[in-house]
Amino acid sequence: MKKLFAIITTLAVVSVSSCSDPKDVGPATPYENGYKTKNVVLLVVDGPRISETWEDSTKQHIPNRVRLLKDGVFISNFMNNGTTNTNPGHSALCSGVYEDIANDGTELPGYPSVMQQWLKYTGADKTKAWIVASKDKLEVLNNCKLADWNGKYQPSADCGTDGNGSDYRSDVITMNQVKNVMKRYSPNILVINLKDVDDRGHNKDSIGYINAIKATDKSITELWDYIQALGEYKDKTTLIVSNDHGRHTAGTRRNAYTSHGDACKGCRHIEFFALGPDFKKNTIINTNNYEQIDVASTIAELLQFPLQYAKGKVIKDAFN
Ligand SMILES: [Zn+2]
Ligand SMILES: [Zn+2]
Repeated sequence: MKKLFAIITTLAVVSVSSCSDPKDVGPATPYENGYKTKNVVLLVVDGPRISETWEDSTKQHIPNRVRLLKDGVFISNFMNNGTTNTNPGHSALCSGVYEDIANDGTELPGYPSVMQQWLKYTGADKTKAWIVASKDKLEVLNNCKLADWNGKYQPSADCGTDGNGSDYRSDVITMNQVKNVMKRYSPNILVINLKDVDDRGHNKDSIGYINAIKATDKSITELWDYIQALGEYKDKTTLIVSNDHGRHTAGTRRNAYTSHGDACKGCRHIEFFALGPDFKKNTIINTNNYEQIDVASTIAELLQFPLQYAKGKVIKDAFN
């Protein structure tokens, strides 16, 4: 405990005024800086409540993130300001647009994701951008409704199922698939969904819910170590950890942790944690400037391609 406190108190805390700088809107000049990042891995932990992760004063369930923070940036007050469900949350992260799309996998996002736009811009093979998810309904992330994009420039997808009748599969299987895909194809953009936290929450399994938070926390270290062990990724890969949504604020209703989907603080407040060669280290940013749709613009800035349609901004305060 004493050690943890020491780590936290030595963090550099960055405060930046909340007035918005028009220069920060969109990658208007995407090529002025040379970034070291050549690959981006976005790991979406599905539905942990921030009060059980970063905003727990002891941070007891996320020891791996606490340790990794010496090499990265955490943004407190990072928000999902759109629909706080799985498919809308993932869609906002990937396209930079909040849309109230169906949450059951029957509706495509309206706008192309960073994966589609990067594939079009670079002309790279579809094996260079991937979605690997524990939920099969997230396969909608490999396409969008917009004419000229629908059915084109689609990333590869490996989403759900367990092969035994469930549309979901365990995160252990997904993490194995992630490693197989990284080793075999070395994608430049990889979006991962881990569903166990959300799933245990909906099942009113309070112990399983906390255990899943701990397991996903361990997966973050596992993934970061794997990145550093592969020549294609080492020292040129950004790892962003975020959430599609949180869960209802503790104490507002019975078993608030079991669900989500409204505009309460617990559902909106999500995490942004980033590690990589272009990010600050040992830093907590506590402005109120940043939100879920900013992730897409930030990925496009790092990989230096122009992002259309996105409404977010580049999270420049997090960069070196
Ligand atoms: Zn859910
Ligand atoms: Zn709520």
